[in-house]
Amino acid sequence: MGYNIAIDGPAGAGKSTIAKLTAKQLGFIYVDTGAMYRAMGVFLMRRGVDPADEAAISAECREADITIRYENGEQVVYLNGENVNGVIRTEEAGTMASLTSKNPDVRKKLVELQQRLAADADVVMDGRDIGTCVLPDARVKVYLTAGSAVRAERRYKELTAKGETCDIETIEADIIERDRQDMTREISPLVQAKDAVLIDSSDMTIEEVAEKIMALVKSCRK
Ligand code: C5P
Repeated sequence: MGYNIAIDGPAGAGKSTIAKLTAKQLGFIYVDTGAMYRAMGVFLMRRGVDPADEAAISAECREADITIRYENGEQVVYLNGENVNGVIRTEEAGTMASLTSKNPDVRKKLVELQQRLAADADVVMDGRDIGTCVLPDARVKVYLTAGSAVRAERRYKELTAKGETCDIETIEADIIERDRQDMTREISPLVQAKDAVLIDSSDMTIEEVAEKIMALVKSCRK
């Protein structure tokens, strides 16, 4: 088993930015598990599956072959051989991922993939259930959060920087709804692991959060 760092938290808390930076500083592999659920969401959307139809999700998800490769230091998600990095970042894919990630067959399939990746390498893995379910023995566990208004503002800036037109109130409403779905589902809900360190990044810079995590890693390596 590698040296594993788990970072969980709600949508838009900055998990991927921080996890990527921490992985780079440590020379670890960054594993973005949300990207895998998004790829599954895209697959099910393309198949025209109703997100409320659990039996159809369970049957169809068997046909999705989701794999991860690292190309030029970046995680690339392949869905049945197709690089889907360019299509999984939409709000639609995020919402479908959240609606379908509560299905036990979807979770079983993706958790197995995540555990295989962490068994072979030192990883910084981010998601919703990493510290509680995927890597319960991770050496460092962080629960990263921020207020919903702050998270909406960050996402708004990200999207407008990419030239997309969006409305900050709609973004905040989507974030709140996604948190509700992720926190109240029956299987592997988003919850802070008992042994996770809580970091509220509302008033912190990316560098400050990364420094705090590096300090935790150093104290756990002694
Ligand atoms: O992190 P991201 O926003 O890309 O995740 C998309 C969705 O995938 C989340 O809202 C959540 O429902 C699901 N997810 C999950 N477990 C994880 C990672 C993501 O259920 N470990």
